[in-house]
Amino acid sequence: MTHIHRILVVEDDHSLARLIELWLGREGYAVDVLHDGLDAIQRIHEERYDVILSDVHLPHANGIEVLAASREVHPLAPALLMTAGAGVEYASAAIDMGVDAYVMKPLRQDDLVNRVRSALAKVAPKKGKTILAIGAHPDDIEIAIGGTLAAHRDAGDDIVLLCLSWGANGGGQSQRRDEAKAAAHVLGALLYGGDLQDTRFELRSTIAAIERVVRQIQPDVVYTHCAEDVHQDHRTAHDASLVACRSVPTLLAYQSPSTTVAFQPTRFQDISDQIDDKMTLIACHDSQASCRTYMAPELLRSTARYWGRFSGCEYVEPLVVVREAARGLAKAS
Ligand SMILES: [Zn+2]
Repeated sequence: MTHIHRILVVEDDHSLARLIELWLGREGYAVDVLHDGLDAIQRIHEERYDVILSDVHLPHANGIEVLAASREVHPLAPALLMTAGAGVEYASAAIDMGVDAYVMKPLRQDDLVNRVRSALAKVAPKKGKTILAIGAHPDDIEIAIGGTLAAHRDAGDDIVLLCLSWGANGGGQSQRRDEAKAAAHVLGALLYGGDLQDTRFELRSTIAAIERVVRQIQPDVVYTHCAEDVHQDHRTAHDASLVACRSVPTLLAYQSPSTTVAFQPTRFQDISDQIDDKMTLIACHDSQASCRTYMAPELLRSTARYWGRFSGCEYVEPLVVVREAARGLAKAS
């Protein structure tokens, strides 16, 4: 069955909007047109689109706000911003928002069609698995499964990182957010941040934060904190993951620096080829890596080396299998 791509066009110039609708319609896309920013945000919450194409200047909410809503609700749908040169003041906000492409005005049919086509080509067809890694704080994920995620990246899987809080109060937050972004960039991963309060995770809101992402990206595999951990946020993240990921085929729990001796891994992920990638990811978190002893490269390497004992590999990240999709017997040859 051929999938017909749905495109939402948000443009307040009615005649231009009609023209865009005509151009994209001819290419076989199903096009919806709206002329108002707030209407668009509402629609984005109600319906699923494969591409959002928005003008910058709109009544009631601007194009950046429209794309922010799109990012939140349909994180994997490409977001394209149409702008005349004057839209440059929005450029950095748009890049923060993860806008996929600019389409310069005045519009040209072939340019517009090509940009939509290449934006769609990037998201489809999907070959690999969708992986969701959940961490309570920036750097939790990279310390625990940086090598495993690099292996997923190398295998062509789509990686989404969910950092439930941006860490401790004050000015450090934006820096830690930037560091998490840098690490996500290395992995080619999409980064989502929750607004949970550091050290004060509450189960219900943690479940809601994870459920929202699970619903949007429908992951095949989720990595999360293990239950055996002295940090209350890590334990809450684990408990919340059990509930929020109940429909996910494979759920694996990882070790953190505050995991207790009760942690008993049942899966040993070989990261011998990714150990240096892991160190690169750790180095992205410079504000922590420079002062936290648990992030010392020697400790991280020797920890991975230690777990390697149990699998005959050089470097390993240990995991607890909470649930795993059946893999079936290998075909006899
Ligand atoms: Zn943490």
